[in-house]
Amino acid sequence: MRALEEKICKEGKVYPGNVLKVGSFLNHQIDVPFMQLMGEEFHKLFQNEKITKVLTIETSGIPIACMVAQAFGVPVLFAKKNQTKNLSDDCYCTEIHSYTHGNDYQARIERQYLTAEDSVLVIDDFLANGAALVGLMDLIQQAGATCVGCGIAIEKAFQDGGKKLRDSGVRIESLARIASMDPETGIQFVQE
Ligand code: 5GP
Repeated sequence: MRALEEKICKEGKVYPGNVLKVGSFLNHQIDVPFMQLMGEEFHKLFQNEKITKVLTIETSGIPIACMVAQAFGVPVLFAKKNQTKNLSDDCYCTEIHSYTHGNDYQARIERQYLTAEDSVLVIDDFLANGAALVGLMDLIQQAGATCVGCGIAIEKAFQDGGKKLRDSGVRIESLARIASMDPETGIQFVQE
């Protein structure tokens, strides 16, 4: 998606540790009309699939997932990273390694919101080593639901999550694929 590549180049900041920050439109402040454009793009890519639910993980996956869910006319469900008082104990739970925080955490969804009848599209903001997607697909599997694929806003293609998941047969669609990035030399995209 050319508009996303341009926005990343204009507004993105590369930090040490291979972390890209896009706080001006996705990771902190949210550019809602732009989220809608991304939602429509994912709708085009997955329009031939039967989708009953969009699944993401808090926090930055949520705004994109909402737009995708709106385009498909289905609910969006997000995995929670904390066991809060308002979350029932009757949950599917999986352990995920956080790329940005460097620790492991439990991601949970209440069983009542994901069932074997669901056909799920997974959405997230970034794909690096693939731990978040693997965790979300584990939750789908625990529910006996079907994963139709994963839509990613920004894939860091120089890390191996995308390759591993595609090799294992998962459909991954990324709107922008970064080939390399460096605080000095900037950001290069994969030429499709
Ligand atoms: P993975 O689990 O694929 O290693 O990393 C993906 C998750 O880590 C995403 O949910 C995203 O929140 C976070 N993440 C990974 N790399 C980056 C990055 O470069 N920038 C930001 N903002 N988040 C990232």
